[in-house]
Amino acid sequence: MTAPPLTVSGLRKRFGSIQAVDGITFHLDAGETYGLLGPNGAGKTTTISMVAGLLSPDSGDITVAGRRMTTTADDAKALIGYVPQDVAIYPDLSARENLMFFARLYGLSATDARRRTDEVLQTIGLADRARERTKQYSGGMKRRLNIGIGLLNRPKLLILDEPTVGVDPQSRNAILESVAQLSREGMAVLYTTHYMEEAERLCDRVGIIDHGKLIAEGSQEQLVSLVGEEDRVTLSATGDIPHAVDTLRSQPWIKQADAANDGAVLVVDGARAHLPAILQEVAAAGVGVRSVEVSEPDLESVFLHLTGRALRD
Ligand code: ATP
Repeated sequence: MTAPPLTVSGLRKRFGSIQAVDGITFHLDAGETYGLLGPNGAGKTTTISMVAGLLSPDSGDITVAGRRMTTTADDAKALIGYVPQDVAIYPDLSARENLMFFARLYGLSATDARRRTDEVLQTIGLADRARERTKQYSGGMKRRLNIGIGLLNRPKLLILDEPTVGVDPQSRNAILESVAQLSREGMAVLYTTHYMEEAERLCDRVGIIDHGKLIAEGSQEQLVSLVGEEDRVTLSATGDIPHAVDTLRSQPWIKQADAANDGAVLVVDGARAHLPAILQEVAAAGVGVRSVEVSEPDLESVFLHLTGRALRD
């Protein structure tokens, strides 16, 4: 049996008084896209910096395709492509020149480097802009090139750290599509994000990470089933919203009620059945409702359910 593309077991890392990673264990199956989903500061970057062999864990073990990953394990590092959050390309070189430079750095011959550069330019959708200096690129194009650099060595495992942060919608879509395509071609992908839509769209399995711990793991379906029948109702409203929220809280089918700037967010057991009662209570509290949105459980609600907080606080 071939070894899984990644195993992580009992990983821990402390920075001074902060336990950034607190005993994380997970693995990737062949061809799987696995998402680490969690808010800012949850420990995602620290985890994958250790997975990529850039940072030594305090304890725990990591293997990539059966090889132990450490900061000095060149054999394990040769099997991964790591795309950091910060773009690391040369602004005065074109995309082609950047790729050629990194390909040669990886030890490819000039002929192989040219061939691989052409392939990667196609994959990241930059073939027609390949000769422009990258300082003229949009943020999203720079990110795509950054991903391309991570693909040059045909990695067994591609590690992407929040690759769409600060990217325009068109490039974001292109990045997500490239990742989906690489996954269809059989590459294992470890993906970190705090955007639940990306985890939902791309990932076969998701690990929800908070305060350095993996608090739940599974397919989207499995994770959502943790929430049960709880729906989210978002009210856009004016008036004494805190008072309305207080009255709603006394109902047994209201699991959570929070006032927001211009309305309220409720977690409701069976929202559709209770919607008329919600609107009645709110009107009786003197609050005028402008709009109501009911959403079925998603990964955001899973996070709320498990932690009592929103993913993007
Ligand atoms: P983000 O989405 O903001 O990148 P994250 O989930 O990747 O967040 P980490 O960057 O792993 O989170 O950070 C986890 C915790 O460890 C945070 O509290 C962070 O401030 C702290 N931390 C990370 N790196 C260091 C460091 N080099 N020195 C001190 N503290 C650090």
